[in-house]
Amino acid sequence: MEFSLTTLGVASALPTPTRFPSAHVLNIHGRLFLIDCGEGTQIELRRYGFSFMKFDSIFISHLHGDHIFGLFGLLSTMSLLGRTAPLFIYAPSGFRQILDFMLKEFGKEFHYPVTHVVLRCERPTTIFETKTVTVSAFPLNHSVETYGFIFEENRPALNVFKDKIAEYGLTLEEIGTLKRGEDVRRADGNTLKCEDFTYRPFRPRKYAHCCDTAPFPLESEWIRGADLLYHEATFTSSHVKNNHEAFHSYASEAASVAKEAGVKKLVIGHYSSRYKDGQLREFEDEARRIFPETYLSKEGAKFDIPFEKYSEDE
Ligand SMILES: [Zn+2]
Ligand SMILES: [Zn+2]
Repeated sequence: MEFSLTTLGVASALPTPTRFPSAHVLNIHGRLFLIDCGEGTQIELRRYGFSFMKFDSIFISHLHGDHIFGLFGLLSTMSLLGRTAPLFIYAPSGFRQILDFMLKEFGKEFHYPVTHVVLRCERPTTIFETKTVTVSAFPLNHSVETYGFIFEENRPALNVFKDKIAEYGLTLEEIGTLKRGEDVRRADGNTLKCEDFTYRPFRPRKYAHCCDTAPFPLESEWIRGADLLYHEATFTSSHVKNNHEAFHSYASEAASVAKEAGVKKLVIGHYSSRYKDGQLREFEDEARRIFPETYLSKEGAKFDIPFEKYSEDE
């Protein structure tokens, strides 16, 4: 029951010799989701052993080049590899004309449909749902229309304690009633309360993704309780932001959001090219003064959210 984030690209807009722009793979129970697709994503997917064909849903936060310039190469490669399965790309409305141009000029040989699902919301809104996972999007505070994402495991169905089945001689019908979350009323006048007889077999896990953004008042409320938060930290606070840069976060701001939101672990990235690799520790040091559970992302780094099984006596 894997739930992990692999950071493939951790740079911001300008190229550096050692860092790729934004791209992240989320693995939820073996299903792969790609979040953003900066230049070089194909190379990184190959390098870290991800099959291109395993992706059927790609989530694009916004239409800045460092988040989408790798997408068109990836779509072409999927075609060359013989893809026929549909591909869904969740992206802001402006993506339509970019995709139309790309498919018109380069997509004549494609044997798979590409569907653009338009992101448009003012508060957290469900955009994708399976039996296992629900994904929602919410607006961020950036220089263009930008969305963050929450990936959440769905709450597992209730189980009935085995020892209570024997102790109370529960019938199949009574077990079914309890599993539906209802109390059982018996002919002898006793009531078996659902909460005394049932438990959830595991704790659902939650991942939040905020890139690119400056902090904003509702941000921590919208991502509250995430097990893992990826938050951009383009600068350290020793840097004075200009107007354009104002829509990005300092490491300390990412850490404050994590602290306020009560997340368990923070991963930061999207470092400006002005910082050499050896200076990235400054990001970690700055963030950890506010939120000690902060980790630097780097190409190929994997962050697992551990599976927590509930024991029957909880
Ligand atoms: Zn960016
Ligand atoms: Zn951006």
